[in-house]
Amino acid sequence: MSVTTPPAPPRSLDYLASLPVTRVRRVGPKNAEALAEIGIETVYDLVTHYPRRYVDRTRQAGIAELSVGEEATVVGTVRRVTSRRTRRGQPLVEAHVSDGRAYLKLTFFNQAWRARQLQAGLQVAVFGKLDSYRGRVQMTNPVVDLIGDRTGRIIPIYPQSEKAQVVSWKLAEWIAEALRRLPNLIDPVPEQHLAELGLMDRNRALHAIHQPQSMAEAVQARRRLAFDELLRLQLTLVARKRAAEQEAVGIRHLVEVDKGGGELLARFRRNLPFTLTGAQERALAEIAADLGGPLPMHRLLQGDVGSGKTVVAVAAMLVAVQGGHQGALMAPTEVLAEQHYLGVRGLVEGLSVPDPGRLGGERPLRVELLTSRTTASDRAALCADLVEGQVDILIGTHALLTEDVAFHSLGVVVIDEQHRFGVEQRAVLREKGRAGGGADPDVLVMTATPIPRTAAMTVFGDLDVTEMRERPAGRTRVQTVWARGPLEVEAAWSQVRAEVAAGRRAYVVCPLVEGSEKVEAASAVEEKERLSAGELAGLRVGLLHGQMAAREKEQVMAAFRRGEVEVLVATTVIEVGVDVPDATVMVVEDADRFGMAQLHQLRGRVGRSDLPSWCFLLGQASSPEAERRLTVLASSDDGFVLAEEDLELRGEGTILGTRQRGRSDLKAASLRRDRELVSEARRVALSVVYEEGGLEAHPALVRELEVLLAGDDTEFLLKS
Ligand code: ADP
Ligand code: MG
Repeated sequence: MSVTTPPAPPRSLDYLASLPVTRVRRVGPKNAEALAEIGIETVYDLVTHYPRRYVDRTRQAGIAELSVGEEATVVGTVRRVTSRRTRRGQPLVEAHVSDGRAYLKLTFFNQAWRARQLQAGLQVAVFGKLDSYRGRVQMTNPVVDLIGDRTGRIIPIYPQSEKAQVVSWKLAEWIAEALRRLPNLIDPVPEQHLAELGLMDRNRALHAIHQPQSMAEAVQARRRLAFDELLRLQLTLVARKRAAEQEAVGIRHLVEVDKGGGELLARFRRNLPFTLTGAQERALAEIAADLGGPLPMHRLLQGDVGSGKTVVAVAAMLVAVQGGHQGALMAPTEVLAEQHYLGVRGLVEGLSVPDPGRLGGERPLRVELLTSRTTASDRAALCADLVEGQVDILIGTHALLTEDVAFHSLGVVVIDEQHRFGVEQRAVLREKGRAGGGADPDVLVMTATPIPRTAAMTVFGDLDVTEMRERPAGRTRVQTVWARGPLEVEAAWSQVRAEVAAGRRAYVVCPLVEGSEKVEAASAVEEKERLSAGELAGLRVGLLHGQMAAREKEQVMAAFRRGEVEVLVATTVIEVGVDVPDATVMVVEDADRFGMAQLHQLRGRVGRSDLPSWCFLLGQASSPEAERRLTVLASSDDGFVLAEEDLELRGEGTILGTRQRGRSDLKAASLRRDRELVSEARRVALSVVYEEGGLEAHPALVRELEVLLAGDDTEFLLKS
C-alpha cells in the first residue's frame, strides 16, 4: 500500500478491495497463490480475515497446574518430536511441549504430517482435553496452532489451512503488516446510530479485532464489525423492498375492518364453526391493513402446524373476491393442493358473489382446482372461465404458473410452504396479476416451519413477517415419547394397537433410506410386510410412498380416512399437510436420522382434533446432536421454540443456504449469537432508507455496498 504524505484523505472501505494482497510487504506471488486458495485476494479480504479465537497468555494455566479430564489451552515451545507406527500400522506422532517449567506430551494418531508441522523450537498453542496414559498426563489429537515468535499478551489465532500451507502466525504477520499501513477509513454509518448502539469507531475496531489490548476490547471490536456486516445485508434487503414498492402498482382492496371486513368476509366469519384465535385475529388485522394500503403486500405468515393459517389465508382471498378480484392458492404438492381444495370449499360453502347476468343477481362463490392431473379439456374450460372472472378462487400446484393460466383480475396470491418455492415463482404469479388488470396482486407466503425471527429478517428480508404463536383452544398437546429402549418400543406398538382398537388411526414413518426414491419405496414395502407379520399383525395396514401412482395414493388416503386402512406405513411423503383428524398416534422409526423441523412436521399429522394423541420417536442417541434433538422434541411441541434450538444446533449456514453469496458473507457476525444486532441493523436500515433521505443521502454506504456485494445485483440500490 502506498501512503502519501499525511494527512492522507480518509479512504472508503472499498478502496481496500481494489488493492491486491501482494501490495502487503512480504506477501510475494507464491504466498498470494496460497492465500487465494483460502479466498484471500485483496487487502480487504486479508484484514477481514478475523481471528477464530484468542489466546490470553497471562491467563493460561501452567502445565503443572492442569488435572486429568480438564480442557485447556497450553502455550509452549515444541521440544522433541518422534514419529513411528503403531502395532496396527497406524502412523503415530508424539511431541513434547514445554512451558518452561513442565512438559506435556502430545499424541497424534493418523496424522503423519504433524511430524513436518511440529518442528523443535516452534511456539504453539495447544487446545485439548488432558488425559493420562500409563500414569503420565498427555493430550491425544489436540488442536494445535502455530503462533510463531509472538510477544504480546493476547495472541490472535486465525482460521488456517493445512492444505494451502497458510498457518496462523504467518497470517498474523501479514495482517499486522497490512494494518500498519492501513489508511484512515471513512465511517459511513450515521454517527447518531453508532452513539445509540454504543459502537466503537470502525478504524479502531479493525485494529482491535486483530490486536486487542484486552479480551473486552476484542468483544467490542467484533460487535462493531459484525454490525457493519449485518447493516450492509439489511440495507440491500430494505433497499430492494423499497425499489419493488416504487415500481409496484398495488390494489387498494376494500377492507372495512371495523365492520368485520366487508360483507363477504363478515358472512364467512359468521359461517365458521369456531371463533378465530387471538393470533388469527391479529394476523388478519395486519393482512387487512396491507390489503387496504396502496402498496402490494409481501408478507410471510409463520405459524406452527395446526395454528390455523389456512383460515386466515382464505379470509385474505375473500377480501379480494368481495372487491371483484380473484384469489389463488399455490401448494407444493398435489396431495396438499387437493386437500386445500376440499378444505377451502368446505370453508366457503354457502357464500355467493354478485353476478348481474343471473337471476337474483348472485351466483355461488366458485373454487376450482388445477393440477397436472387436470385433463386437457377440463383445463381448457377452467382457463376460459378463469379469464372471464367466473372462477373466484383457484387452488393448485406449480400448474398455476404455466402460461395458459390467465386471470381476469388476480387480487391475492397465497403461497403455502414457502421453503419449496423460490422468489422467481413469486415473480411469475405477480406477472399474472399485472397481465390481468395492470396491478400487482398482494402476496401472502405461509410457512409451517417457522424460523427464528432474526433469521427470517435475513432470509426473507424483503418480506414483512407475521407470527401466529397460538393454537386453537381445546387442542391437547401431542404427547411425545422418545422410545430408546426395547420396553418403550414395545409400549409404543401397544399404544398403536390400543388406539386402533378404539377406532382411531395410526401412522408409521419408515426409516430414511439413502439413495433413490425407488430404494426408499422398496424399503417401505418391506417394512410394511415386516410389521404386518409382527407388531401390527391382525390390523389393516396400508402403504404410501413417493413411487406410487397418484391414483393409488389417493385411494389409500381415502381408505385411511374412512378407516378401512387402520395403520398407514409411509415414507416422508406424508410430511406436509396431510389432515386426518382421527389419526391419533404416530411411530417414527430411526427418528435420530431425521432433522428437527422434519420430525416436527411429521408429528403435526397427529393431534389434529381434540382427541389425545401420541408420537413415538424410535431411535438411539447416535450422536450428541441427535440426542439433543430428540430430547428437545419430546419436551416441546412449539415450532418457534424448536426453531431457536435448531439454529443453536446447526448454526446459520443451513438456514442461509446459498442465498448469501460473495463478499456479503458474514465473517464477524453470526445470526445465532448476534440476534440483537440483527434487529438493530434492520431498524437502522429501515430508518436510513425510509426516513433519512434514502441511500441517495449516504454515498459512502452505497459505495461499500456496490463493491462488497460484487456479483449480486445492486442496480436497485439507488432506484428512486
Ligand atoms: P395450518 O395450516 O396452520 O397447519 P389449518 O389452517 O390447516 O392449520 O387448521 C388446522 C385445523 O384447525 C383445521 O381443521 C381448521 O379447520 C381448524 N381451525 C382453524 N382455526 C381454528 C380455530 N380458531 N378454532 C378451532 N379450530 C380451528
Ligand atoms: Mg397448512
